Amino acid sequence: MCDLGSDTMYEKIVRYLMFPLLEVRGNYLTHLSEMGKLQWEKPAVIEQRLLKKIRHIVQHAYNSVPYYRQKLRELGIVPDEIRGLKDFERLPTLDRKQLAENFHDQGISCSVPSWRRRLVRTSGASGETAMLYGDRGASGLALAIRSLFGTWTGVGPERSQVIIRTQTHLDERIFFNRYEISTLSFSERSLPRIVRVIQTRKPAVLEGYPSYLARLADFESAASTRHFSPSAIVSFGETLLESYRNSIAHAFDCPIFDMYGAAEVGPIAQECNVHEGLHVNTEGVYIEIVKDGQGASEGEEGGVIATSLTNEVMPVIRYELGDLAVKGSTCSCGRGFPVIQKLSGRVSESVRTSSGETISLVSLYVTLNVFAQYLRWVGFEQPRDGFINIKIVPSAAYSDQIGDEIVSHFQRRVPRLKCSLKVEQTIPELTGRKTRLVETAC
Ligand SMILES: [Zn+2]
Repeated sequence: MCDLGSDTMYEKIVRYLMFPLLEVRGNYLTHLSEMGKLQWEKPAVIEQRLLKKIRHIVQHAYNSVPYYRQKLRELGIVPDEIRGLKDFERLPTLDRKQLAENFHDQGISCSVPSWRRRLVRTSGASGETAMLYGDRGASGLALAIRSLFGTWTGVGPERSQVIIRTQTHLDERIFFNRYEISTLSFSERSLPRIVRVIQTRKPAVLEGYPSYLARLADFESAASTRHFSPSAIVSFGETLLESYRNSIAHAFDCPIFDMYGAAEVGPIAQECNVHEGLHVNTEGVYIEIVKDGQGASEGEEGGVIATSLTNEVMPVIRYELGDLAVKGSTCSCGRGFPVIQKLSGRVSESVRTSSGETISLVSLYVTLNVFAQYLRWVGFEQPRDGFINIKIVPSAAYSDQIGDEIVSHFQRRVPRLKCSLKVEQTIPELTGRKTRLVETAC
């Protein structure tokens, strides 16, 4: 009998059964193979392909989405006139408030079948969150983009991974060799148990929010022996502060790859093995870095504006993500994908329990995902340790009974925080940057 560890066996199942199934469902392997070649093309070739995708999504939005049709007509813009990126960058930007207001009707394409709608919540690393539809028709490409990023760590997509996050990704759990640990289960008391679970899984890659990876790193550094040794670590969701990078690298003695993604547009960019910045995968998204209304120069910091090139259900065009980033140049690895030099302004905000432990806001938002259809907007405020106000702007489907269910659901999932619900009628004005409702402890 072959001496195959369970991981090895499972890797074979993932590679020879799950990936072909994903290919049938959404051309996963085809996308991965094409992007594997595309990444080495010259930037000019990649830009031509990008422009074609941009023109397609703008034309689609103009043809079938009332919001964009009206907006472009008001401005006298005809999609056919978009010949270069400069033309495209004259289109109006979209902020989170506009997205929330147009969610239920005006922002949805009338030509895409409803089965492709996938309800997602905007990433709430700070401030507030809103809901929108993603496109199930693009799920194969999104998974392939994640897998391409994975290959940059030197670890194959079939290998064992442990991911520390709150939002479950069903496709990743079913079709990949991935095990999720909820951020909500993290506390000083539970850390030894969590480390034992990771030790059992023997992950080739450990992924998570940097603040949680740093907690694990501190635990491992204080222990007499290391419990697990991943080949790579991937951080996402928050800014990878230098202090985090150092403590994680010291504890696990393996390379760290910073990844950037957002619920509104999916996976965006990741560091390669040269670590000279984050490569934007232009098969899924176009990223602009804008300073004072103009495109930033290399080395300049500006706001991130993202356009999804794959979401035909609810096109997201020139969306102000609210993050800050530094525009990069090229990377010496030779990949042609454009480079973000550095991400900034994504420092996690957190709330404090009555015993002084912190819970990241990202974790709190996703606990309310099951109520997405009833909520147009969600925000949190913390008047004192151990207590938070959940502020919501309800949708038409909302009722008082749903409000009661939100509170009891939240208390079940996050028993370490007491909460009350505040129902508001209008979405607060935003300034283009994510509003800080709770100061960070980082
Ligand atoms: Zn590179």
